[in-house]
Amino acid sequence: MTLNHLNELENITSPWAGSLPGDNIEILRSPLLQSFEGISHTFTTRRGGISPPPFDSLNLSSKTGDPQFNVSENISRLSEKLSIKEDLFFLEQVHGNEVLTVGNTNAEHLYRQFDAAISKSHSIPLSILTADCLPLLIYDPQKKAIGAVHAGWRGTSCGIAEKTIKEMGRVFDCRAEDMVVAMGPSIGPCCYEVDKTVLDAFSQRGDKGLEEWSKASELCLKDKEKSWHFNLSEANRVQLLRLGIKENNISATSYCTCCTEELFFSYRRDGDKTGRLGAIIMLKEEMTN
Ligand SMILES: [Zn+2]
Repeated sequence: MTLNHLNELENITSPWAGSLPGDNIEILRSPLLQSFEGISHTFTTRRGGISPPPFDSLNLSSKTGDPQFNVSENISRLSEKLSIKEDLFFLEQVHGNEVLTVGNTNAEHLYRQFDAAISKSHSIPLSILTADCLPLLIYDPQKKAIGAVHAGWRGTSCGIAEKTIKEMGRVFDCRAEDMVVAMGPSIGPCCYEVDKTVLDAFSQRGDKGLEEWSKASELCLKDKEKSWHFNLSEANRVQLLRLGIKENNISATSYCTCCTEELFFSYRRDGDKTGRLGAIIMLKEEMTN
């Protein structure tokens, strides 16, 4: 089952790799999101920053031991290359399902304890940090609204993507059938062995959670104990489809952060002492005549 799902995901994926002009910062972009002129977006890799091992080199968080100077320099270089004029800010992600609506002012003290952000404000980037968890970037070209979501197994099991889509509907009048979603690199089922704790978390959301679990997990036996290989992006894809997001409007990459050490940080592979990748989306400034 897992292999079939992976193939399906790969079929809607074209080459995502790229680099930023005049630098060695290497990034990924979803061809689907890139086809819309109203936004810019980026999934960073670990390449092109100044941090030394084990944070080498484009680490975007100082919370795991990389000195702030390195992180600030990395963020500064990235912002410059992406033409981001406002400060790049990050949510304090807590593996929950709270969604922040970002207004016109960049009041940093507000950005606490949220795992998703939505906005209609131009030129203010929404950002998510990950090291194995799944980043989702959302765009509604009709209502000109964006969203960014941090979805690990905990966030996925409590429906963080679903809540974000619904919040975009409630606050900005967005319709699911208009929305476009890109799922960035995350840990793949190849490396993501999970135990019954994860199954129990999905069960708590009833039929919805169990549907996601059954389509995204495959039983494996290790040391005579039951465990599962879990497909985080597939669980989120099931969640998005159920809400009415069109299949062709979901873009995914099958890059596994844990397998692909040369490109990505991975908590599962490297433990606490590793860096953080960024997923960024921004509405471009409106053209004036
Ligand atoms: Zn893997």
